[in-house]
Amino acid sequence: MSTERSNKFYIHTFGCQMNQADSAIMTALLVQDGYVPAENEQDAGIILLNTCAVRENAVERIEHYLQHLLGMKRKQKDLILGVAGCIPQYQREEMFSMSPAIDFLAGPDTYRTLPSLIRQVRAGTRASSLEFDPAETYEGIDPLRQGAITAYVPVMRGCNNMCAYCVVPFTRGRERSHAFSMVLEEVRKVAASGYREITLLGQNVNSYCAPDTALDFAGLLDAVSREVPDLRIRFTTSHPKDISEALVRTIAGRPNICNHIHLPVQSGSSRVLGLMNRGHTIEEYREKIALARSIIPDVSLSTDLIAGFCGESEEDHQLTLQLLSDIRFDAAYMFFYSTRPGTLAARTLEDDVPDPVKKRRLQEIIDLQNAISAELLQEAVGSVVEVLAESESKRSAGQLMGRTETNRAVVFDRQGYQPGDLVRVLITSATSATLTGTPA
Ligand code: SF4
Repeated sequence: MSTERSNKFYIHTFGCQMNQADSAIMTALLVQDGYVPAENEQDAGIILLNTCAVRENAVERIEHYLQHLLGMKRKQKDLILGVAGCIPQYQREEMFSMSPAIDFLAGPDTYRTLPSLIRQVRAGTRASSLEFDPAETYEGIDPLRQGAITAYVPVMRGCNNMCAYCVVPFTRGRERSHAFSMVLEEVRKVAASGYREITLLGQNVNSYCAPDTALDFAGLLDAVSREVPDLRIRFTTSHPKDISEALVRTIAGRPNICNHIHLPVQSGSSRVLGLMNRGHTIEEYREKIALARSIIPDVSLSTDLIAGFCGESEEDHQLTLQLLSDIRFDAAYMFFYSTRPGTLAARTLEDDVPDPVKKRRLQEIIDLQNAISAELLQEAVGSVVEVLAESESKRSAGQLMGRTETNRAVVFDRQGYQPGDLVRVLITSATSATLTGTPA
């Protein structure tokens, strides 16, 4: 392998926005140590998989991908393969048995050790770094992000909740908030680099508490929106039990904070929410929705749903369908429950809902939510909305794709506009997921 290639790396990112933000940190750490990003995996001497462990199929996907990489390594003997992120943190060194192709493992708190892991492999040994570090926030590292329009800015890492189905506490460790000064410095740099939108990231941003100023998330969001008033500000993910009136009033009070709240509910049944250890009832959830709508009448709401959790009855499922009909979310991420070894549910509950029932319930949830999304988007036809153009549309180079501040996807005729432009668009048609239009 040429020296030039052996010095090049390529990162495949799987899973959530936090993993995308971490890949930008890993890129910066490797570039700092003299490595060069490759355009694609064929040009790289080092390949890194940044993995997700949230559901079984996420792990299966990596197992398949490792077979492909094993084939590449047979042709390219000194290709180095590292696996990072949530799967190695979750499976620890056992993951080496998943494939002989794996040379090193790195957990979400150990990316500063990547250069030394590569050196160890080059010295002839497999290597791993899987310690949790409750103080690690990668302060001082300027992430090298992909894209030029929207940027993810983590404001905290880890999670102190223990939702029964969730692996995050076991893969990302205890919660720690980034210093207020660190977040402000990062958003200034992002704005100076020309980004047009920032998404503040955390597993549960509502429990943010600045270690240097004790400011809560509402305070941080307000400060960020004033620091970069020309950028759109989004945030995710909120936990219903921690969302506050102060936060909703901050969203209402600042023109550049997007009018969208993603509030995972998971189930419409308080009994199931109890089994999930979510820390709130469905009545309390409905009160938070009513609070948000009382302060911001046209607030856009989206959610997460799990069908077929342990012990879920048909009545519980009907309560979930009723909740969707009552609240009419703009959109939802919908999955059926899959057991994650080591979680509270795996240790204390029986996965007793048969797969065909899980899948049937999930399909009913999807069908109902898609019908609601289609109706809500249809209501937007004939209106003019402001869209931040993000990229060329996959459909044609003559169209751009972007999102409204309410997080609705819009595809519109280009007419000389470029990604990064804020465009007023007349909506001419809608599907259940996308609005289509032309500049007004
Ligand atoms: S809040 Fe619950 S679901 Fe979200 S990351 Fe934390 S443990 Fe997982």
